[in-house]
Amino acid sequence: MSEQKLPSRTEDFSEWYNTIVQRADLADYGPARGTMIVKPYGWSLWENIQAALDKRFKATGHVNAGFPMFIPKSFLEREKKHVEGFSPELAVVTIGGGETLEEPLVVRPTSETTIGYAYSKWIKSYRDLPVLINLWNSVVRWELRTRLFLRTLEFWWQEGHTAHATYEEAEFETRQMLDIYADFAENEAAVPVFKGRKSEAERFAGADQTYSIEAMMGDRKALQAGTSHNLGQNFAKAFDIKYQDKGNELQYCWTTSWGLSTRFVGAIIMVHGDDQGLILPPRLAPHQVVIVPIYKKDDERAAVMEAAQKIQKELIAAEVRVKVDDRDESPGFKYHDWEMRGVPLRIEIGPKDVAKGSVALARRDQPGKEGKTFVSQVGIAATVVDTLKSIQQTLYDRALAFREANTYDPKDYEEFKRAVEKGFAFSYWCGERECETQIKEETKATTRCIPFEGQSGESGVCIRCGKPAMEKAVFAKAY
Ligand SMILES: [Zn+2]
Repeated sequence: MSEQKLPSRTEDFSEWYNTIVQRADLADYGPARGTMIVKPYGWSLWENIQAALDKRFKATGHVNAGFPMFIPKSFLEREKKHVEGFSPELAVVTIGGGETLEEPLVVRPTSETTIGYAYSKWIKSYRDLPVLINLWNSVVRWELRTRLFLRTLEFWWQEGHTAHATYEEAEFETRQMLDIYADFAENEAAVPVFKGRKSEAERFAGADQTYSIEAMMGDRKALQAGTSHNLGQNFAKAFDIKYQDKGNELQYCWTTSWGLSTRFVGAIIMVHGDDQGLILPPRLAPHQVVIVPIYKKDDERAAVMEAAQKIQKELIAAEVRVKVDDRDESPGFKYHDWEMRGVPLRIEIGPKDVAKGSVALARRDQPGKEGKTFVSQVGIAATVVDTLKSIQQTLYDRALAFREANTYDPKDYEEFKRAVEKGFAFSYWCGERECETQIKEETKATTRCIPFEGQSGESGVCIRCGKPAMEKAVFAKAY
């Protein structure tokens, strides 16, 4: 572990982030520029994210499958906007087994095209619909400026791909998956999100409609944390995905795709972390509780370890993810280390606690004395479960209050410019691409989404050009 000092968040947010990723043992850079090695602690967090999402996908009828990493290059060219969008960031294999390939292979940047190929073979009749498949895999996009979790050449994610008989069913699916992402973000990760529609310029390459969840990070910039696309019949037409309807007529399918990636780990770090390090939401934390035994002499050690192991057993029985830290290090070192790694709750137990039948609980969300309480060992599991729930809620409430305090409703464009320097602006926008481009050039802020909630239903005037506007958009600088 490097001994690099953690800068404060206000001092240098970017360096704070980079240092935490390394010091909390989440990830490292790989040997090829811009690639990421996810270390066991970071992967364990990702596994908990996967489990929370996978449960929701399966409860809504989806099944998992595995699709190839290589895609014939011509496949990407079949959907015009798709290839335009992805061309600059493709990795292409031209040699295999020492021979120049007849047709170059693209390393998948996303799997819509292979899915299109497969679905056109599998779907024949309305009876075959809907097809609801999800993939857990990694994809490659040749990014120039990379940062661990936020933007790397290869990243891990899930990509859902569905095919339906009607536009309405596809739209229902697209919105349902967005709701699942929002539910996951808020109730598992304690990250409040704006849920809404992307502007045309910010849409996925080849989609008719893109929806996203957008979160405010600790530096008040936005992070797109999950997207869901209604692909209309664009891919169905490019890949000839047709079905015979009840009247024996051939129809094109309506398809969707949706994804959430390891980028979300970056969101958790930047939403919850503080100047001591990471703070993990209990529902996703690899270790929800760490028990630190405190002793000096050997006879103390035996009694303390026995009590620690008894508490560990009770917590495991209550389905709490708990670790006893029996490393040969000082308690102070261990406190610091687990604070850096964001473990939500620490239990300290020493000889005096053993004698009194108590333990000290230290909440990660309330550093110092304020978050420390002494509780009885009797009923410890129930106390811990309640405390973890309280930490989860506190993290969410704190993140929401922070976002609300930093989201503005500027009166004019001058105020708007200042607003996006210090947070989000929620403003009327005419919906025109040219106006959006101007705003981006002048302020570096982009439309994050046009939220479903918070619209008054009344028309207004565009914050920049003054033309009539029907809806408000969230504008912010973004990762
Ligand atoms: Zn405008």
